[in-house]
Amino acid sequence: MSDQYQSSNVFNPPDRLLLGPGPSNVHPKVIQAMTAPMLGHLDPDFVAIMDDVQRMLRLVFKTKEGFTLPVSGTGTAGMEAALVNLLEPGDTIVIAVNGFFGGRLEDIATRIGARVERVDFEWGSVVDPQKVREVVQRQDSVKMVGVVHVETSTGVISPLEDIAAIAHEKDALLLVDAVTSLGGCDVDMDSWDLDVVYSGTQKCLGAPSGLAPLALSGRAMEALRKRSSKVPSFYLDVSILDQYWNEGGGRTYHHTAPITMIYALWQALDLLLLEGLEERFARHHRVASALRAGLSAIGLEPIVKSNWAPPLTTVAIPDGISDTAVRGRMLREHDIEIGGGLGVFKDKAWRIGLMGYNAAPANALRVLSALEQALAAEGYEVARGRSLEAAQMSLAS
Ligand SMILES: *Cc1c(COP(=O)(O)O)cnc(C)c1O
Repeated sequence: MSDQYQSSNVFNPPDRLLLGPGPSNVHPKVIQAMTAPMLGHLDPDFVAIMDDVQRMLRLVFKTKEGFTLPVSGTGTAGMEAALVNLLEPGDTIVIAVNGFFGGRLEDIATRIGARVERVDFEWGSVVDPQKVREVVQRQDSVKMVGVVHVETSTGVISPLEDIAAIAHEKDALLLVDAVTSLGGCDVDMDSWDLDVVYSGTQKCLGAPSGLAPLALSGRAMEALRKRSSKVPSFYLDVSILDQYWNEGGGRTYHHTAPITMIYALWQALDLLLLEGLEERFARHHRVASALRAGLSAIGLEPIVKSNWAPPLTTVAIPDGISDTAVRGRMLREHDIEIGGGLGVFKDKAWRIGLMGYNAAPANALRVLSALEQALAAEGYEVARGRSLEAAQMSLAS
């Protein structure tokens, strides 16, 4: 034993219910998959798992021919991969911004040296395709239009099909951030004609954070081949990653795939597809409706009234109630994590996620019950049990 090292024995993660904007808890089978024996990243048995993951991702993104791969890294790595592969310095990208993550798209596009045209919408409101169209049409040329499908800072879902048509009128690609939507609400890449779509594993897909599934349409792959400059990121260069992920590329080493994360994703996608996409979307909708009914019943109005996204509900914090005091109680006394507000909603809203494995009636009831207790302890007058009654009625209807 080393006499230089004394273990602090702090590694003892408690069992929490994660009902914030992600990460979410995962099915026990997903954790179990991560404990399977390690394989080499070029082992034929691992390669078979990779092929299967790509096939399952095509089903989840609803694309027959699209190229899919899980980018190593979290949702933001997917965002960065999408932008860095398809934008070159001087290219114009029109970005619809109706919350925090639209702003992050702009940040990354600017770092690449692209010309960014922002179309701003009030936080909590939906992206209006006609406003995007006006800006797109005004440009000489547009390489890409970017939009966040479910804005996780507000819980709004935006219409993708119309925005895709607007992009294509101008021969531009449509980029979609589906980090919070994929696996929780419909994302139909082929029918809606989306070009570059990325997600993250820890939200509605039901795996830990660490991979960013990315899908590219034929149009996007062609744009990638036609680039005049090298992709400025080696790690995220899809044209080289393709040589590892696709049989035809000779399985050329690029970087060592995160083996256990890919096991987890395989298992999470298998569970998702066995449940069925439409059944899964209906489950998210059903539990979010119950949560919303329960919150309203105790005077906590959900902020988003129309185009609300089932995976994530934002709710205004009542006047005089401390954000951190309530969330602190939820965590310490109930082992439940919910999210605080982001950006303009900081200190003003809570974000409650019912995503993937966590989108279950029992979790909607648990978070309502804990919230009632925490609010009461902080002096908010709440008719105890009323939120559970309303949620249960919603579930029964
Ligand atoms: C969570 C999230 C991201 C970023 O994902 P990370 O896994 O945190 O890197 C990007 N976009 C949206 C819409 C998100 O909700």
